Amino acid sequence: MIIAVVNQKGGAGKTTLALNLAAASAAQGKRVLLIDADPQQTAQDWAAIRTEPPPFQVIGLTKPVLHRDLPAMAADYDMTIIDGAPRSYEATRSAIGAADVVLIPVQPSGADFWASRETVNLVRAAGEAKGGQRAAFIVSRKIGRSVLSREINEALAEFGLPILAAGTTQRVIYAEAMTAGETVIEQQPDGLAAAEIRAILTELEGMKE
Ligand code: ADP
Ligand code: MG
Repeated sequence: MIIAVVNQKGGAGKTTLALNLAAASAAQGKRVLLIDADPQQTAQDWAAIRTEPPPFQVIGLTKPVLHRDLPAMAADYDMTIIDGAPRSYEATRSAIGAADVVLIPVQPSGADFWASRETVNLVRAAGEAKGGQRAAFIVSRKIGRSVLSREINEALAEFGLPILAAGTTQRVIYAEAMTAGETVIEQQPDGLAAAEIRAILTELEGMKE
């Protein structure tokens, strides 16, 4: 299974989700590959500051060749997760082209949904070309139990993509774990953050046909 975590907007939560989902999948005994498609190499920096090797393979691949090359690379793994690049149209399109499931993280504000418009258009074009590709928004950094605003519901209706029931909540452990070269799965496997990551993974696994 290949999951692309994409949004051309920076700070949407792509790397946080990609690393933690990879760790959660590896903790289930899966062989996991994480592709760092971001030229800023955040996931590779994260891997480099660790004392122990990561529980999954991290490979940097920033050229827009994922749609061409990833199927062969991913064949050796049970799960492949692409940490998408900000800004780049070509790299985002390539990541989407490689994926079975596309996940678009957005923070819970109308502005963040509207800023994802170009990414959504790429996902739609790819879905029409490929047929049957699954894509969804995921809300990252939810605060409290707030209901989705009217703005967000309007954006969702316009974009025509579902939104995962699971998402991440605003929690300091996500930032702390990443800064320490760890994941919430490693730091607090029985914590609330780890539980929400596992719920996202389960929902994603159910999305693949
Ligand atoms: P992107 O890869 O899309 O640019 P990141 O995953 O790097 O986004 O997230 C941007 C910032 O937000 C980082 O500092 C990260 O630690 C923080 N962050 C992401 N998700 C959460 C969360 N659920 N709770 C708290 N901080 C978060
Ligand atoms: Mg990132």
